[in-house]
Amino acid sequence: MSTTSSGEKISFTKVCGVLALCLLILFVIGLIAGNASAIETRFHSPRETNTFPLRYMDEVPEATKIQLESDLERFFSMTGSNPSPLYKQIFKAMNRKASQKWFFSRVSDVGQNLCTSDSAVACVLSAWDNYIFLSPNYTKFDHPAVARIMVLFHEARHTESGNGFWPHATCPKNYVDENGNPMKSIWTGAPLASEKACDLDEFGSYGIATILLLNIAYHCDNCSAEDRREAEIYGRDQLRRITWKPAADRIRADLGI
Ligand SMILES: [Zn+2]
Repeated sequence: MSTTSSGEKISFTKVCGVLALCLLILFVIGLIAGNASAIETRFHSPRETNTFPLRYMDEVPEATKIQLESDLERFFSMTGSNPSPLYKQIFKAMNRKASQKWFFSRVSDVGQNLCTSDSAVACVLSAWDNYIFLSPNYTKFDHPAVARIMVLFHEARHTESGNGFWPHATCPKNYVDENGNPMKSIWTGAPLASEKACDLDEFGSYGIATILLLNIAYHCDNCSAEDRREAEIYGRDQLRRITWKPAADRIRADLGI
């Protein structure tokens, strides 16, 4: 009897203990879920407000979102029936389907303001998979749409973790253009000598942006004369960032320039 009573007491205590533990676990799960949901709410606007499959951190100003999506649409609408061999190798084709597939398979999320350098226009951070971060410089300067397209595809290339994020090479100490003038960023005017702002390869971020721009300039079927002209200016500028001559020569040969 006393054993039974004791057994009943023990099992009652056990039940209470298990119940309390369950409640505690549920409480902790609730906290984590609530917190995750809060983070999700803080960082992302609803998808249905966007034209494209992109999510935005809340810090991204509405004007930047509109500018970004307008720039992407501008490029996605460009078609070229005969892009250069390097363009085909990298982007497959110059049409909406191929361009969207290339970009959105690399970029799903957009943030703002986390770039470390004041002169940066945009950046990626290796801990944030498939994010690109735009700095205020993205909309601050009066650059043409093709220049912003250049930046977006440059950064999209940097999201490729399987390729080590295509790190930049250091620009030469004595880094000058064909006329002997010191090379400066076409975006911010910042001097580039000895900066990590060059490529040695035609397949890095500067290389693929150069190939993209010069294909807009020379192989786009439906681009305006203005877009072609600006793409040529920015494309030839970016070509100077390929500081290993054999790689730069391969791009020139690819485009017949
Ligand atoms: Zn870069």
